[in-house]
Amino acid sequence: MKGFENFEVWFVTGAQLLYGGDAVIAVDAHSNEMVKGLNNSGNLPVKVVYKGTVNSAREVTETLKAANNDPHCIGVITWMHTFSPAKMWIHGLQELRKPLLHFHTQFNKEIPWETMDMDFMNLNQSAHGDREFGHIVTRMRKNRKVVVGHWQDPAAQAKIAVWMRVAAAWADAQDMRIIRFGDQMNNVAVTDGDKVEAEMRLGYHVDYYPIADLVAVQDQVTEAEVDALVAEYEKEYDLAPNCQAGGKDRQQVRNAAREEIALRHFLQEKGAKAFTTNFDDLAGVDQLPGLACQRLMAEGYGFGAEGDWKTAALYRTMWFMGQGLPRGCSFLEDYTLNFDGEKSAILQAHMLEVCPLIAEHKPKLEVHPLGIGGKNDPARLVFTSKQGAGVAATIVDMGNRFRLIVNEVDCIKSKELPKLPVASALWIPRPSFEVGAAAWILAGGTHHTSFSYDLTTEYLEDYADMAGIEMVVIDANTTIPQFKKELRLNEIFYMLNKALC
Ligand code: MN
Repeated sequence: MKGFENFEVWFVTGAQLLYGGDAVIAVDAHSNEMVKGLNNSGNLPVKVVYKGTVNSAREVTETLKAANNDPHCIGVITWMHTFSPAKMWIHGLQELRKPLLHFHTQFNKEIPWETMDMDFMNLNQSAHGDREFGHIVTRMRKNRKVVVGHWQDPAAQAKIAVWMRVAAAWADAQDMRIIRFGDQMNNVAVTDGDKVEAEMRLGYHVDYYPIADLVAVQDQVTEAEVDALVAEYEKEYDLAPNCQAGGKDRQQVRNAAREEIALRHFLQEKGAKAFTTNFDDLAGVDQLPGLACQRLMAEGYGFGAEGDWKTAALYRTMWFMGQGLPRGCSFLEDYTLNFDGEKSAILQAHMLEVCPLIAEHKPKLEVHPLGIGGKNDPARLVFTSKQGAGVAATIVDMGNRFRLIVNEVDCIKSKELPKLPVASALWIPRPSFEVGAAAWILAGGTHHTSFSYDLTTEYLEDYADMAGIEMVVIDANTTIPQFKKELRLNEIFYMLNKALC
């Protein structure tokens, strides 16, 4: 995993000095025990660090400013043990730039009916203290995640874990560099957008390099490096007869390996976490880099085809969130429709570039002609995807804002495509093919998506909140009239929001 172990989340307890020194000591002891419990639960991917109890405006501001400035701190969890008058949080919250989670919990699980007295009441005030805190955060229009539950409850911990993964991906995106080889595909609207606004709003930075720069790196790749990588292919995949040693397309496999090595070197050297290609911009390259894109995606490099840097960024972010989870993610494209009554579905594929993390079985390495791009026959991994639920997501530029569109989908068994040897998935959008696809189109969604089996809508909701962007969800409860209403209301909300900011 890239960096979860280097990250920490700060736990800050709110209180005040009204209740005396004994209370301060008890609050501190409880907080320590809770943080220890959270860390020992085994349910949280990022370490929680207790940063003490804040009892005054000065302490709040100092702590939250320190959170901003600590590169390991990816977010702050707040919890009000006693009643913490919320005006003392104003200046600190004005400063805070890291993601915020408000944990509405309580040290004791159940009411101690027999022993509870006024001292206990003065000490354990989360029920009203968290409401006072919540008010000021809402009054200040600050996005945050509110998690309600006892701190030992795995369901509450699971919600914190989701937010932690998203906060980690958010931190990762703040120095994400995306390299475009070539521009957008000519005339395409939906994959284009405002790169300046993207950097201001979403953190990542998009650069352009001519493909000739990659070719120069490719020229430095040695035969020994190619040998080693092809040996790795032989270990990981089933090679088609024409790809095996002595096969007629063996050289194409070697050329693909050379491209992969060059791409990896280039991205490493530039400190890039994501990239795009364009099949119209391949001068000096042997073949459309299919296999290379597939394998680099599996390593966590963001990828978007035809210059689609927004999807490249979103893929990297979703891959980062899902690190260590078992089922995988991929860049995908709505390829072709299968009208089949209640089982009507959309075949998801691309020319070549589908991530093998979603493969159901060991992928096959094959070389076939490709009728686009005018290059030599490219190598690619061929497989069908796992079955089960997942989320497909995209970000589109609406001109005055970014809109994140999420569709919950169900992947069903796909079939072999003997005449179209590419990797694929087959999914039915929720709530149905007809409603899901109509809603996606009404929302202005792309034909490219970033897809994950491991993530749920909750992850993307946390992401949209951290980024402060619009999000629309298409799920089992979506109806077209309601969805249209939501889009219309959002139009007004973001117009006013822009005017007020
Ligand atoms: Mn495409």
